[in-house]
Parts: sequence; C-alpha cells; structure tokens
Amino acid sequence: RAKQAGRNRCHFFRRDMNEQAVRRLEMEAALREALDRQESGAGDDGAGEAPFELHYQPQVRLKPNCLYRVEALIRWTHPRWGAVSPAEFVPLAEECGLIDRLDSWVLETAVAQLGRWRAAGVPVPGLAVNVSAVRFARGDLPDQVRSVLAANGIPANDLTLEITERLMMSEEAGAHDALDALHALGVTLSIDDFGTGYSSLSYLKRFPVGELKIDRSFVKELDIDAANRPLVRAIIQIGEALGLTVVAEGVEREAQHLMLEAEGCAIGQGYRFARPMPAAALADWLAGEGKHWTECPDEDCISI
Ligand code: C2E
Ligand code: MG
Ligand code: MG
Ligand code: MG
Repeated sequence: RAKQAGRNRCHFFRRDMNEQAVRRLEMEAALREALDRQESGAGDDGAGEAPFELHYQPQVRLKPNCLYRVEALIRWTHPRWGAVSPAEFVPLAEECGLIDRLDSWVLETAVAQLGRWRAAGVPVPGLAVNVSAVRFARGDLPDQVRSVLAANGIPANDLTLEITERLMMSEEAGAHDALDALHALGVTLSIDDFGTGYSSLSYLKRFPVGELKIDRSFVKELDIDAANRPLVRAIIQIGEALGLTVVAEGVEREAQHLMLEAEGCAIGQGYRFARPMPAAALADWLAGEGKHWTECPDEDCISI
C-alpha cells in the first residue's frame, strides 16, 4: 500500500511538474515574441498594441514633503493571460537570457519619458530604474546609460539604478567595474529589497552604493508587529552611519508613515502616497491630487 501511495504521489508530482514546465515554455515563447514586437515599434504610431508598458510610482521625501523620484515598473499585458506580474516574468527573463533586452528597453523608455516630461514642464525631479544583476554581467551597461542620458539631455544625477544584493555578492569583476563606472558617471546606485538577500554587509563599504531601500516585508507590519520597528531603525542607522539615503518601500498606512518619519527615514514609497501609474496619469496626478508634493517649502531642497 505504501508503495502504491508513493507511486500515486509521484504521478501527481510529475503531472504538476509537467504543467509548470509547459507554462514556463509557453511564457518564455510569449516573452520572446512580445520583445520582438516591442522592439519593432508596437504601440508607436498605431502599429498595434504594445505588449509592455512602464508605470511610474512616486518616491517622496518625508521631511520636508516633496517629490524625490519616480520608480519605473514594467507591466506586461498578454493577449490571453491578461496582466502578468513582473514578479513572475522578470525571474523567467533572467533565466532564459531575455533580461538584457527587457532591461535595456526599460532604461531607454524611462529616460526618454523623463526627457518628454521635462520638455512639457512636468516637474519630475528624478528617475529610478530596476536593473537585474544579470544585466550587469554584460559589460556595456555604463555605455548604454551614458548614451541614453546624453540623447535625452538628462543629468546623471537624476538617475538611480536599483540593484539587488545578489549583484553585490557576485564575484564577476566586470560587474564591479560597471558599478564603479556608473558611480563615476554620477548615477546613484540603490540596494533594492535591502535586508532580505545576504547577511554580509561588507559590500556596502566596497562598492559605491548611495541608497538603501528597506524591503516591503519589514515595512508591511511595522505598525502591527513590534519586532519590525528595531529592524527598520537599525537599517536607518546603517544608512545614517554610512551616509546613504534610506527609502522605505510598501508604505500603505498613515501609522507606518508616521513611524518611519519618527525614525528619521528620508524617503517613502507606497500606496499611502501613490500607486504606480502610466506616464500620462502621473502628469495628471502631479498637476492635481499630488500637486502638494511638487511645492517644496524648503529652499535648500534640490529635488525640483
Ligand atoms: P521592487 O523593485 O521592489 O518594486 C516594488 C514593488 O512593490 C512593485 O511591484 C510595486 O508595484 C509594489 N508596491 C509599491 N508600493 C506598494 C504598497 O504600498 N504595497 C504593496 N503591497 N506593494 C507595493 P511590481 O511592480 O509588481 O514589481 C515587482 C518586482 O519586479 C520589483 O520589485 C522588481 O524587483 C521587479 N521589476 C519591476 N520592473 C522591473 C524592470 O523594469 N526590470 C527589472 N529587472 N525588474 C523589475
Ligand atoms: Mg525597485
Ligand atoms: Mg524594492
Ligand atoms: Mg521589493
């Protein structure tokens, strides 16, 4: 009987694996096709629906209150599956060798958008873009960043690249050179999801990091589970000690906002302030509901 049960389990397990593998293969093919269409100009001049779109979420300075940057977040709408989460397709793109193309498209599109906002007088002080550790391994990132900034007249200071701790642990010399080259350009390097990756903090002194993003998991229950507060406080203190800007992600409620402010966290991002939104909606938001974030009372605030 045990043998029988074991066989059954194995059978179900294999079928489940199979479904997963099929979904993966389908998604890989769909991603590849979507990238081909995007790169050949889908969405431009009525050339069909674009498969990818960028949404932009405000990051705000908590004291004084003003807009700091906007983070570009990729969105993919599949004709049959609808919206696919980046938490699902970004890791897949990393595994199947498509992330270089995806991240390159995001960088070019987001920086060009910042240029268009500025040309139209929309007060967006800066832009943050997520870049996969895999993208860093290919040596041409600093060159691409330099040329896209120049092409759109954007100062390097206005660009932040959000990277994960995984990159910092990489032994790849090319990735280290890229970090140094980007820093030399004047681009800010930010550690995304800080505190969830690796326990070694030595990379913070070895690499030219300028910013830490406290992971959403610590902020999530900040006002509910007392154990989170000392962790958040400690991260803010690490930032202070090393002269790094600290950004809290996933701020949803006023209570979290007030605690972060009381702990001296400089920047907040989350539904409490604004959701990620398409470029046109962001411009509307800045002119309407979010207008107060563009009116900084502090003359020393260089953000706008
Ligand atoms: P991330 O960079 O840590 O981005 C923050 C995520 O939290 C985003 O999810 C955002 O929509 C979500 N978020 C923001 N505020 C709140 C809040 O108040 N509450 C909650 N519950 N969530 C909030 P999203 O857009 O689904 O992206 C997931 C992840 O996918 C990102 O995490 C990032 O790691 C990756 N990603 C997104 N766009 C790109 C991209 O262009 N390139 C690369 N390489 N990765 C990307
Ligand atoms: Mg990010
Ligand atoms: Mg993050
Ligand atoms: Mg995160």
